[in-house]
Amino acid sequence: MFRKSFASLACAALALTGGLSLASHDLLGQGIFGLSEEQELELGKQAAAEIEKEEPILQDATVTRYIDALGQALVRTSQRSNIPYTFKVVDSEAVNAFALPGGYIYVNRGLIEAASNESELAGVLAHEVSHVVARHSAEQVKKLQITGLGLGILGAILGDGKAAQIGNVASQLVATGVFLKYSREAEREADRLGAQNLYDTGYDPRAMVTFFEKLADMRQREPNKFETFFSSHPDPRERAENVKDLISSFPYRSDLRVDSRSFQAIQRHLGSLPPPVKRVDSDTAPTTPGAPAPDETAPVQRATYRGEEQDRAVAARFAPVFRVGVTANPRYDLPVKFDFDGDWRADNNAANVESSNFRPASYVYYALSETSDHYFIHYGLYFPVENEGADQRSQPRDNDMEFCLVVVEKESTDPRDRPARVAALETFVDGQVRRFIPNASLLGGFGSVSVEDGRPVLFVHPDGHRMSPYRGDESRSDYNIRGEALLRYTGRAEDPFSTRGDSGYDLTPLYPLWAEARNPQAQVYGAGQNFGRFSVEAVGYRNRTQTRTVDLGNIGTTFRSDWRHQSSTAPWAWSEEGQRPGEWFLDPAGSLRRHFNLSQEFVATYVHHPFLGVERGSF
Ligand code: ZN
Repeated sequence: MFRKSFASLACAALALTGGLSLASHDLLGQGIFGLSEEQELELGKQAAAEIEKEEPILQDATVTRYIDALGQALVRTSQRSNIPYTFKVVDSEAVNAFALPGGYIYVNRGLIEAASNESELAGVLAHEVSHVVARHSAEQVKKLQITGLGLGILGAILGDGKAAQIGNVASQLVATGVFLKYSREAEREADRLGAQNLYDTGYDPRAMVTFFEKLADMRQREPNKFETFFSSHPDPRERAENVKDLISSFPYRSDLRVDSRSFQAIQRHLGSLPPPVKRVDSDTAPTTPGAPAPDETAPVQRATYRGEEQDRAVAARFAPVFRVGVTANPRYDLPVKFDFDGDWRADNNAANVESSNFRPASYVYYALSETSDHYFIHYGLYFPVENEGADQRSQPRDNDMEFCLVVVEKESTDPRDRPARVAALETFVDGQVRRFIPNASLLGGFGSVSVEDGRPVLFVHPDGHRMSPYRGDESRSDYNIRGEALLRYTGRAEDPFSTRGDSGYDLTPLYPLWAEARNPQAQVYGAGQNFGRFSVEAVGYRNRTQTRTVDLGNIGTTFRSDWRHQSSTAPWAWSEEGQRPGEWFLDPAGSLRRHFNLSQEFVATYVHHPFLGVERGSF
């Protein structure tokens, strides 16, 4: 919610220059690049008001009193104790903390819950206090001034001091996230000052090291729980090393505290409160600025995006019926979630599917993009073990993913005239795209897929789990197929092997696996590939079609595996001969046009493509 486009800030600054002429004299006199303490406090106050409009502040007197007391103890031994500080708790499970100008400091409930003891929490607060001590926010404002955007800020604060104007500027600054993204040098300085502050206040400064190490581990396990505190900060392992070096020079003190009873009581108390309300947060989406530059580096990937619920509803409506061929070991034939075993590691999945703790539950992955005329839905099955060859154990591999593409023609303006319906199906097997259309007997050239209740019916062959349109004679093939499990989308992930007849599967978004593939700390993938820049046509600012170029750079493509055998690749790494890597997955409309020899009238301009940061309705 803070990250709106930079362009909007430019607009605000321009809008304010009208009222600036009188003030600009004073600005020059005071040194245009300095933010006075008074200005900083005013800006902080307004920015805090903006933040608190957006962020749910935990209204619990016990917790607030505790955090404030802990924060004030650190402030007293800091190098800037002459200004008032405010400490508040944000009711969010994300592990985060931040400091605004003028001593307004916020720590998320999730961070308090993640700390093991009081000194770890105090270390984070000391870091935030140090941002205020070193006036890093003023540095951020200075940077904006250098680029010419900050004139209006000082103008508004200095000028005739109209509160509404200052509030407007503060809101623009908050929106750009400038106070949540200090420079790396500033972060290192805050770590150094914070470690000193922690020690001076009587806490064991090694808590900062242990907390950074813990966070590095947590980030690997649950990348989506981490927000700005980490995406904008140096690698926590590097920070741990730096702090470790620094504190080794601190004189020994026998009186350093690590924990307190009140911290443990606060943690218990938090555990007894209702969980944070999960908001549908537009900020969790990759941003699409109002006026995207033609060349734009994709924003930091999050594990969710705006419009995901709508995508899920569309994917549910057309979710295929899967008839899954079952062999002697049905565990290998059940499509599950990648994290079915509770972790995001690919290298233990083959072992964990054998475990007695394994509870079968069927899931199907989906990813959706959209043009004005069509939905392009990739449906995927994940298996912890790849079967290959007639003897399924002869060449087992870790991890297997298979995808198909379902193309849905949207309903016409009059739904009775042309309701939404499946228009085509593609599978991707052995590097080759196979094309099908519903009930194709009358049309030559393409294979046929049958459609039941609007859903394509597919067969999943245990040999490599490859998918094809269901014909009805598959079970008679010679691959030790003992039977079929019939999986239908019901929104419930069931175990088809414990029931007879139909059984339900649930959908799960592919997007978190993509977000992890773009995380440079990724542990899910053992190998990646440089995709460079990838362009598609997209509807942009003012509904104009423009080329959307995303610098994808290095993306994880092959799941990590400890086995000697090759592990499976994610669908964005699949490539057809002679095409860009990822073409089939990342530009399904363009590749469909090519595969089916469609004319240019077939629209391949995306109105929604979350994997490339194109979001519907955001213009
Ligand atoms: Zn920081």
